[in-house]
Amino acid sequence: MKIICVGRNYAEHAMELGNDIPEEPVIFMKPKSALLQSHTPFYYPEFTNELHYECELVLRICKNGKYIQERQAGSYYDAITVGLDFTARDIQDELKKKGLPWEKAKAFDNSAVLGKWVPVTPALNKKSINFSLYKSGELVQKGNSSNMLFSFDSIIEHVSKYFSLNIGDLIFTGTPAGVGECVVGDELDGFLEEEKLFALEVK
Ligand code: ZN
Repeated sequence: MKIICVGRNYAEHAMELGNDIPEEPVIFMKPKSALLQSHTPFYYPEFTNELHYECELVLRICKNGKYIQERQAGSYYDAITVGLDFTARDIQDELKKKGLPWEKAKAFDNSAVLGKWVPVTPALNKKSINFSLYKSGELVQKGNSSNMLFSFDSIIEHVSKYFSLNIGDLIFTGTPAGVGECVVGDELDGFLEEEKLFALEVK
């Protein structure tokens, strides 16, 4: 199982970090060890002083494939949730400055958090899904899938040119504007539409 992540998929978020708007999806990966297991506490990592939350829509792959066409991509995922792509922003800034890969800032243990899965049914309007993140009760991020630069299906077409997709793989589809720091004691609550899908305390 692998975790594929899209960077800079919302124009306002690309701009808030001073990045250009990409012409094709920015892709990075997290290993299986990055996944926070359910009912496991999340501890603030000791190697960073600037841990950022990034709330994202996450897809679960349900069919193996490679070279998937955009028009068929919808049949390759069967569930969606909100998740967190935890980022050690201080480390990422250092790595970016040096032109080095981001893994130490993005792919560390427990850096991928998942909410409860929601089945993808024809009733779900994939082109306009609202999601949000509250930090200790305050709304900090609010997104809608209509504002993604690259849609779910075009991400799958792009990614599957390079990587075979396998059942159980996850795709983090990028974060909207509003990323920021969290500290020990913060509670992070992720919502898809009105439904709370995760509640995580930073310990
Ligand atoms: Zn992200």
